[in-house]
Amino acid sequence: MVKIGVLALQGAVREHVECLAAPDTEVTIVKRTEQLEDLDGLVFPGGESTTMRRLIDKYDFFEPLKKFAESGKPVFGTCAGLILMSKEIAGEGEGHLELMDMVVERNAFGRQRESFETLMPVKDIGEDIQAVFIRAPLISEVGDNVEVLAKYGEEIVVARQGHLLACSFHPELTTDCRMHRYFATMVKEAKEQFATQAISS
Ligand code: GLN
Repeated sequence: MVKIGVLALQGAVREHVECLAAPDTEVTIVKRTEQLEDLDGLVFPGGESTTMRRLIDKYDFFEPLKKFAESGKPVFGTCAGLILMSKEIAGEGEGHLELMDMVVERNAFGRQRESFETLMPVKDIGEDIQAVFIRAPLISEVGDNVEVLAKYGEEIVVARQGHLLACSFHPELTTDCRMHRYFATMVKEAKEQFATQAISS
């Protein structure tokens, strides 16, 4: 059993909770920093990254979230969640939590009415992952330690850096929860690794 939280300051929270639901996964809606202590993994949902950042500061989540990710516990960010994780935001300068070594461009696929849905291959996850893009960011640069898992045309849209996973689109707005199962497996593996380390130290 693993415990995965969904940060619930703003954005599409309930849809992630539904996609994560599985017999071996307990899902928590996170509204207070103390709840982080109990979790094995965390999801940053889509929404609006500037608003989310404001709420992160307002409710003193900044340091606890950084500490959570830096402890090696897996984090999965979708859309605005991906923006929160990036080291740099093109045209704006430094990022928010700066967890992943990459540069993002916000609203890179146009505005709300240019939202679209497609099927795309995501490495290690599936050949035909359902992806909904809504005012989505793209990843314009990645460091050597970041693995590109998917591109839409020339643009990087899914990336992984060890225990950190980020995607531009909204897998939670579809019935295809394979991205979430993949993340739950990352969480399970990290938890097992922590347990092994605890025994051998
Ligand atoms: N455009 C939004 C932002 O910059 C992200 C959109 C989304 O999460 N659907 O925060």
